Amino acid sequence: SNSAPTGEAYLVIGGCGFLGRHIVDALVKRGETNVSVFDIVQRHFDANITFFTGDLANIEDIAGAIKKSGAKIVIHTASPPHGLAADIYEKVNVVGTHNVIEACQDAGVPKLVYTSSASVIYSGSENLINADERIPYAAVPLDAYNDTKARAEAAVLAANGKEGLLTCALRPSGIFGPGDRQAIMGFHAVVKNNQTKFQIGDNTNLFDWTYVANVAHAHLLAADKLGVTYPVLVLHEPLPPVDLSLG
Ligand code: NAD
Repeated sequence: SNSAPTGEAYLVIGGCGFLGRHIVDALVKRGETNVSVFDIVQRHFDANITFFTGDLANIEDIAGAIKKSGAKIVIHTASPPHGLAADIYEKVNVVGTHNVIEACQDAGVPKLVYTSSASVIYSGSENLINADERIPYAAVPLDAYNDTKARAEAAVLAANGKEGLLTCALRPSGIFGPGDRQAIMGFHAVVKNNQTKFQIGDNTNLFDWTYVANVAHAHLLAADKLGVTYPVLVLHEPLPPVDLSLG
């Protein structure tokens, strides 16, 4: 169960976004009293949460927030939404995530949880059925968003066990629920633009969706369990031994 508070200091990067806000809510709901948010815009104003406003792509912004928050657990959910120019993904997802890793290591943060995406293994052409961590990254990424999500994820996983930092990455598929800023807007645009007559496949295609509070719950579990020994599947290459005394 993740219902007991750990009493640790948390920083949720992208904590004013859809998923990030649900992670903040879940932390507060289970009784955590030391929760901070880093985001490029402040969309929420709560007296019990410390908000840092800054750009992930700027190392001073994120390093300053990580230090000032005193975070022991950093949960990195920030990413630009789909449909923007390629350079913004390079800047935020790749440079920004490298900044997060470096700032965590410099500040002696023990745990980093990264929100990746299921689409890092999707090339757009073949079906993925019961896919798991053994499937490699798409050889030809679907687009700049997926390319940079995969490279950010790889950097986070490669940092595991280095300079006292434990890391992991979660790959949600579609996320739905209150506060969504993409899915419903996209469906609405399809209807509004009369694009409903297109069908891909023979009407048996499936796509995974997870309720946002469950995705948030998975992030808390990942943060809680990171560094605890339990059977794991190690896929791409064996990870270096990890100091489990970090707690
Ligand atoms: P969102 O846009 O609601 O939240 C992202 C947050 O990051 C926003 O608050 C935004 O202001 C912030 N942000 C963006 N650029 C930033 C920067 N340069 N510096 C600081 N903050 C910045 O998106 P979401 O749907 O909550 O997605 C959260 C994470 O989950 C993302 O990493 C996304 O790739 C991943 N994901 C989302 C879905 C989905 O269906 N929504 C599916 C799979 C993976």
